[in-house]
Amino acid sequence: MLDVGRHPNIDLLAYSEVEKLEGRSGDFKVTVRRKARYVEEDKCTGCGACKEKCPTVVPDAFNVGLGDRKAIYSWFAQGIPSTHTIDPEHCRQLKGKKCGVCAKTCLAEAINFDQKDRLVEIGVGAIIVATGYDVFDPSQIFEYRYKEIPNVVTSIEFERLLSASGPTAGHAGRPSDLAVEAEIEALEKKAGRLQRAITKFEDKYVESSSAFSKKYQDGEYKDDKDRKRWADKYAEHLAILETIEPIKKKAEGFTVAKRLAFIQCVGSRDFRFYPFCSGYCCMHSIKEAIIAHEHETETTSTIFGMDIRAVGKGFEQYKIRGGNNSNITYIRGRVAEIMEGPDNNPVVTYEDTRERRVKSEEFDMVILATACAPGRGTIETANLLGIELDRYDFVKTDPLSPVDTTTPGIFVCGCSVAPLDVPESVSQASSASERAAEVVFQSDLKKEKAVA
Ligand SMILES: Cc1cc2nc3c(=O)[nH]c(=O)nc-3n(C[C@H](O)[C@H](O)[C@H](O)COP(=O)(O)OP(=O)(O)OC[C@H]3O[C@@H](n4cnc5c(N)ncnc54)[C@H](O)[C@@H]3O)c2cc1C
Ligand code: SF4
Ligand code: SF4
Repeated sequence: MLDVGRHPNIDLLAYSEVEKLEGRSGDFKVTVRRKARYVEEDKCTGCGACKEKCPTVVPDAFNVGLGDRKAIYSWFAQGIPSTHTIDPEHCRQLKGKKCGVCAKTCLAEAINFDQKDRLVEIGVGAIIVATGYDVFDPSQIFEYRYKEIPNVVTSIEFERLLSASGPTAGHAGRPSDLAVEAEIEALEKKAGRLQRAITKFEDKYVESSSAFSKKYQDGEYKDDKDRKRWADKYAEHLAILETIEPIKKKAEGFTVAKRLAFIQCVGSRDFRFYPFCSGYCCMHSIKEAIIAHEHETETTSTIFGMDIRAVGKGFEQYKIRGGNNSNITYIRGRVAEIMEGPDNNPVVTYEDTRERRVKSEEFDMVILATACAPGRGTIETANLLGIELDRYDFVKTDPLSPVDTTTPGIFVCGCSVAPLDVPESVSQASSASERAAEVVFQSDLKKEKAVA
């Protein structure tokens, strides 16, 4: 990625979207919307001082909502370019309120609230679509109770929990426990604010709150509005301290999730949704189970699947190594239902097809290996460029020319075509680049001949 950012022949138009396409193979005109970041790209040094001070906290989409970010943010730490962006949906200043804290903090003077979207036109010989895929929404399979049971998560969510740069710095904390910890933090913040207000009253009236409260309850200062505020704040503070104590006690027992269940083919190989195999999810579940075990050696993982598709050089050995060294058990069987047991533990009911028995087992966390679904961005881009989609809404390609779309000069690679893993996507990207280079070369040749 860094190489792309530095390459002299590559212009990277990040935070931009194609709006219009005109022309034909060898001579396209593309109109691109360069969205306003409200931060000057050439001035921003990526130091992050602005986001430290920004008071607006919103769910972090990069961490699939599991953590928070500020209204001024960088999408992720190693992003290219490293410039920050203001989210106009949430920024106080852009919403018409008073703020501008980031502008005061930024020593590079990069903040520009007057920046507007720009439309730029680019002449290109060929186009490569690489708009990828979306993750299947498992709440469509109601028996798995995703979103209803907090400790049922998707593979993407678990991947973020395992990541050192994720919301839990790589610890597989259970979402139900994280919610309790967030509640404690919010209550403590509120208690802190109330404590500061109470202290001001104590200083003003030179009296402790407990002594004042007794008098107030006995009917003294009845008509004194200021002292009523003091009494109310003191009562609220005591109520919060009382609420917080048992929650904190409960949180003392929290550890990382150690009994993991992975459920394969969630939305894939399922005629209600996508009949095809998503290809990469068996391997990423094994990978996540191995990483979880590396982080916490007591972790055990059970992978439920119709079969494990370890297709590729060395993949089968990886699967066996997971079983031998990382406490992974593979169970052949479809999970029928997930219910919530004690302590927010998901309970999985499944048929073990080898033993021909229906069983139930309790886990700390269940991870759903969700299907690779056609991307919304791919569908929109295909409509805009006038290229055809196949019956599942992936980009249609020629079986004998697998990176050629139905429009000459427009090529495609990666999960816009079909579910592919990273090495397959990268090698397809090389093929698509080669096909695009052929078109550009041929059209340059034609132009040269026409001039000669
Ligand atoms: C949980 C999980 C774990 C995985 N782990 C592995 C692994 O360990 N190894 C492995 O090989 N594979 C893994 N995969 C598969 C891997 O994610 C894919 O192979 C890979 O992301 C495909 O790359 P892509 O570039 O085709 O698509 P994407 O990664 O989806 O990238 C497409 C990009 O295009 C952008 N985009 C979409 N529409 C537009 C638009 N209109 N304009 C501009 N930009 C747009 C999207 O925002 C996105 O950034 C995993 C998948 C999942 C779900
Ligand atoms: S102006 Fe917007 S982005 Fe800047 S600090 Fe305030 S809320 Fe955050
Ligand atoms: S890769 Fe594995 S989990 Fe994913 S759809 Fe295929 S069989 Fe199911």
